[in-house]
Amino acid sequence: MTLLITHGTIVTATDLYRGDVFIEGEKITTIGTALAMQADRVIDATGKYLLPGGVDVHTHLDMPFGGTTSADDFESGTIAAAHGGTTTIVDFAIQYKGQTLHHAWETWAKKAAGKAAIDYGFHMIITDLSDQVEQEMDALVRQGITSFKLFMAYPGVFMLDDASIFQALLRTGTNGGTICMHAENGGVIDVLVKRALAEGKTAPKYHALTRPARAEAEATHRAIALAEMADVPIYIVHLSAAEALEMVAEARDRGLPAFAETCPQYLFLSYDNYEEPGFEGARYVMSPPLRPKETQDRLWRGLAFNDLQAISTDHCPFCMKEQKTIGVGDFSKIPNGAPGIETRMSLVYDGGVRPGRISLNRFVELTATSPAKIFGLFPRKGTIAPGSDADIVVFDPEKKVRLAAKTLHMRVDYNPYEGREVTGAADIVVSRGRVIVDGGTFTGRAGGGSFLKRSTR
Ligand SMILES: [Zn+2]
Repeated sequence: MTLLITHGTIVTATDLYRGDVFIEGEKITTIGTALAMQADRVIDATGKYLLPGGVDVHTHLDMPFGGTTSADDFESGTIAAAHGGTTTIVDFAIQYKGQTLHHAWETWAKKAAGKAAIDYGFHMIITDLSDQVEQEMDALVRQGITSFKLFMAYPGVFMLDDASIFQALLRTGTNGGTICMHAENGGVIDVLVKRALAEGKTAPKYHALTRPARAEAEATHRAIALAEMADVPIYIVHLSAAEALEMVAEARDRGLPAFAETCPQYLFLSYDNYEEPGFEGARYVMSPPLRPKETQDRLWRGLAFNDLQAISTDHCPFCMKEQKTIGVGDFSKIPNGAPGIETRMSLVYDGGVRPGRISLNRFVELTATSPAKIFGLFPRKGTIAPGSDADIVVFDPEKKVRLAAKTLHMRVDYNPYEGREVTGAADIVVSRGRVIVDGGTFTGRAGGGSFLKRSTR
């Protein structure tokens, strides 16, 4: 199969120019002006941007949490991602206590096989670190699972102590892997949660009020300090608080390889959402929680000036019906997470590029190039170049979309941005040379995505 996309404006992290892209099989082979190749299909992209397919390095599909399972599996979740212009995800496989990492990988590989419609990799969540598990880390890195996520929160479930965290960091110094950190002080949060419940404070907003910004900042600082002592890079996931961003900025100013992502929910939603009537605040129960509205400007500045290097989604949807409602009468039982895999590119384009907070190049860098580089997928993913995978989004900068749970494709009964109109959306989406979304219709197939073996730093 050959595909020729003509008359588009090609956007990468560094370039912006009018050009044609020729695709043979799964790869981009030629880029030029007025290409005269014959192709099986020609797409006229006049007036459109050609963007590298989005790379979302933080998703939780088919993930058990708090007695239920995230509502999107690898089929519905990756189809929704494709509609939104994302062609690569890195999801999290979870090692539960007493299990091997290999068992966790097998379990998640089965969840994805035959279902994923776009390419995917895995980070490995480590909850139990032994000598044997450290050896397994080396083996996984060789097999293309080159990043590990550790938790400083959820004591008794996911949390590791500082000694284990330090051990794991040291190990990446020799195997070339990267540690991703959920940075919140879980011990402090647990005490605050117990105290709130004892005082009869059970509404959803107390989820946020028991997870202070300083608990995130403290853990962010500690994570970076541990990585500094281990002399390895570190990547902070879903950074939400201005106080935590200060810790990353301070470290980067000292020249440390500290990296961090934020997510659209922290850029477009705020603590005020928890004050919505009744149990509605449960829609926004996620960790870390939404922060005061003033934080948004700080995060945008962090994105513009490279103290934050990526925008991912932390997509982890739970329906209000029968899932979020587990926590009626006890906010600590509300499943943590919200949908976002489909709306990332449009939200960030509309709220970031259009008002001039970030440039078009920076938009591509934050949503594709930089995460691909940090997680060993570049230049196969994250750019438009000869030899790269033909993952391309024909993006219509003028297309208006009203975000609504009913018309989006995520398998969840609400949307945190319900009713918000965004300008700028994917029109055609190409994944490894195949058109998988064509004018709003999914034309790919479940199982069309492949496991991505990622490289080391
Ligand atoms: Zn997450």
